[in-house]
Parts: sequence; C-alpha cells; structure tokens
Amino acid sequence: MENVIEIKHLNKSYGTHEVLKDIDFNVKKGEVVCIIGSSGSGKSTLLRCINLLEKPSGGMILYNEENILDEKHDINKYRTKLGMVFQQFNLFNNHNVLSNCMVGQMEVLGRSKKEAEEVAMKYLKYVGMDQYINAKPKQLSGGQKQRVAIARALSMEPDVMLFDEPTSALDPEMVGEVLKVMKELAETGITMLVVTHEMGFAREVSDRVVFMNQGVIAEEGTPEQIFNNPTGERTREFLKRTL
Ligand code: ADP
Ligand code: MG
Repeated sequence: MENVIEIKHLNKSYGTHEVLKDIDFNVKKGEVVCIIGSSGSGKSTLLRCINLLEKPSGGMILYNEENILDEKHDINKYRTKLGMVFQQFNLFNNHNVLSNCMVGQMEVLGRSKKEAEEVAMKYLKYVGMDQYINAKPKQLSGGQKQRVAIARALSMEPDVMLFDEPTSALDPEMVGEVLKVMKELAETGITMLVVTHEMGFAREVSDRVVFMNQGVIAEEGTPEQIFNNPTGERTREFLKRTL
C-alpha cells in the first residue's frame, strides 16, 4: 500500500527545547494509526506539524510523494486534504450547527450554499446531529459538540482525518458516543491519525499503535504487539500506568 504521509527526520524545537527529535513516520492510505504517550511527549506537536499549524524546524513531510515544506507547494490546498478534530472542539460559537459545517466548504472550497448545506446535512446525519442544526454550540453537550466538530471536518471531504485527544475534554458518559462515531468512520476506510488516551479504542480500532516518549517514536507495532508484547521499557512503564 502507498504512503499518504511520509515523514523523514522531522525536528521541531521551541528555542532550545527540542520537542520532536528526528522523527521518521509513515502513514499508509486507509490506515488507522493511534498515537499514545505521556503528556509532553510531542504528540500534539507532531499532528500540528503534519497539518502545518506549526512550522517544522527540520526534516521533510511528503504528502502523496510531494514535499509540502517546499516553498512552491500550495499549503492551503494541502490543508483542505486534512480534517482536524481538537480536544476543545474549536467550533465557531456564533454560528449554529449547520453553519459550522458550511462556512469552510463555501469559503475554502468555493462550494455553493446549496451544495454546502447538502454535504453538511449528510455528515450531520452521519454523526447523529441532524436534529440540532439550529442549535448554537453553547446549547450542546461536549459529546454533541465533538460530533459536530467531526461532521464539520468530514464536510470538507478530506483524505486524512487527524484527531488530537478528541475525548479528553468530555465527561466520561459522553466518551462512548464520540468513540462510536470514530469507530464507524475507521471502518469506512478513511485514513486516520488519532492521538488518544483511550487504550481500548487504540487496541480495538487501530491498525498500528505508535508510542511516543520525549520527542521520539519509542516503539510502534500492531495493537497486539504494543499492548500484549511491548519490547521497550518505557512502553511497558507507560502501559502499566494507563491500563
Ligand atoms: P503532548 O501532546 O504529547 O502532550 P505537546 O506536543 O503538546 O505534547 O508538547 C511537547 C512539548 O513541547 C512540551 O514540553 C510542551 O511544553 C512543548 N511545547 C508545545 N507547544 C509549545 C509552544 N508553542 N511553545 C513552547 N513549547 C511548546
Ligand atoms: Mg497534546
């Protein structure tokens, strides 16, 4: 299978603090990869470098074999290929649910209002939020907000979905409804990169698990390898603390 994303020797520093150290990492088309690891290990920074919310300090990021860090590369076009879901939802609070899922389509993809509405409705139905199209984010629970955020990202019809701890800000009783949507999504064959502390989800849904520690990928493998037979001392310690 071909690599959608290929990362070579990626470095990211803030001042003298080296947050990502010489990361090599590939994601194949259709793969679901979960990234686990302690707080501060660089998981968010890795996702933020991939979607260019952060500028890498060094290394290469290839998207379908094109170097996206090349000055000539169309960054805005690249970004439309990636859907991002954040821990804190990042919905537009002054827009209702439907509008949240339409603005990006119209402003960035140039879709008509009619088309944007049709697409938004399709994905709001998919996440079970089509009954709430007129609600403002503040009227929704955390689980509902996150499902709208997923619908908004899907409405852009991206090639790859990136999730940064999508359930970490939720009350426990709402985690399940979001994971259920993500699990269904994974089964559609879309490429997904998920930073998560939900080990059950990582074990059940991912094709590959990546364990990050202090800015490096300390270990990666199938869920069976990582959860049943971790080879690294750090991986074992981390799993002992979280499971
Ligand atoms: P994780 O998502 O695994 O918890 P992060 O990628 O958020 O880790 O952060 C990794 C390290 O980078 C942490 O030590 C954090 O303090 C530091 N860091 C993240 N963002 C910034 C920033 N904008 N400026 C300075 N340091 C940062
Ligand atoms: Mg993080």
